[in-house]
Amino acid sequence: MKAVLSSISPARVLFTRFMRRLGRAPYFGPLSTIYLREVPPPPSPGPGQVRIRNRLCGICGSDLHFVLGEGDFRIAPAAIPGAGYPYMGHEIVGEVTEVGPGVTRLKVGDRVTQERGRSCLALGRQPLCRQCAIGNYNLCEAPVEELHSGAVGGGWSEEFVTAEGFLFPIPDELSDEQAVLIEPIGSGLRAVTRHTPQPGEKVLIIGQGTQGLGTLLSIRALQPNCHVTVLARFPYQADMARRYGADEVIMLGADLYQEAARLTGGKVYQGMFGNRMLLGGFDVVYDCVGIPSTLKDALRLARAGGTVVLVGVYLEPMKIDLTPTWYWEVNLIGVYAHGAEDWQGERVSTFELIARLMREGKMNVDGFITHRFTLPEYRQAIATAIQQPRTHSIKVVFDYR
Ligand SMILES: [Zn+2]
Ligand SMILES: [Zn+2]
Repeated sequence: MKAVLSSISPARVLFTRFMRRLGRAPYFGPLSTIYLREVPPPPSPGPGQVRIRNRLCGICGSDLHFVLGEGDFRIAPAAIPGAGYPYMGHEIVGEVTEVGPGVTRLKVGDRVTQERGRSCLALGRQPLCRQCAIGNYNLCEAPVEELHSGAVGGGWSEEFVTAEGFLFPIPDELSDEQAVLIEPIGSGLRAVTRHTPQPGEKVLIIGQGTQGLGTLLSIRALQPNCHVTVLARFPYQADMARRYGADEVIMLGADLYQEAARLTGGKVYQGMFGNRMLLGGFDVVYDCVGIPSTLKDALRLARAGGTVVLVGVYLEPMKIDLTPTWYWEVNLIGVYAHGAEDWQGERVSTFELIARLMREGKMNVDGFITHRFTLPEYRQAIATAIQQPRTHSIKVVFDYR
């Protein structure tokens, strides 16, 4: 079968970064970090495993970090031994074509999406660690050496074999196109359950890529009665944000601090060297970009006692002014992927909650998927996802159907 694999050996990473510096991004060649190969199909599923034939798989921002050779070995996650898993693609919709012995939840013909990462919950490890015990497979604390996934293949392969505990059965009412967006919207939804705006509060979302739009859709589904401003980079993102329910759009390049002051009734102060601060800003700021400049602004644009939720992924240590966290007691919290949420008195998995909101018509994702490619077109697909100013891409998917 055809499969896109990754290798982040030092030589490939360094060469990729070098080519980026020359303006060649994404770079594809003999030393790129990902490549298409013809590989043997996965073996028959073992005990507790199933075989999946893929139908759709998205390209995630985290996949692009791989492609671009981004990241720094000094960040905390880099201290934990990785799986070294070579197969790419986790935003999966597929169909079960074969089940191994002892599989209980799934049968041939079921549509599934990949929910859990390597964790006690996905692999049936007992006893569950304290995070898996409350549904947070994303925060699993089990020793990583005990978590052998046993999987072969991924979402950017024609097929894969994995333990059934990784998979979420897709309700019949959802289309493949809706289902493939459950995972990418997961962290936006989790950001909103980690800190839900109160009725009437003023909210800012920084960034309107997948994470920002997912956060916007989740706010509108979970707390329709609040005022949402978004900061968008491109006009097509602004159009999507309005369609998905943003009350106000600030374009990158506008005077963000003055616009924020106008919308919140706050006041901008300016010190030396362009040092600016907004007093009386937003009740909640979701930073869906997460780079040093946006996190700095997020902390300064939140009101005293307000909250900043860090949703965007940045894989390097950053030097940043954290004084708003003590001087104005701004709360800074983060969010990683998806797990289980407390919602209206119920403990429910992030995936289940999103699927329910989609079924009930409270989360309409029309227009989110902008481009489709076949797997052999992977270079074009990845370039489309990276070169947003030119392609106006939001979610790019591989279509195997
Ligand atoms: Zn993803
Ligand atoms: Zn665990």
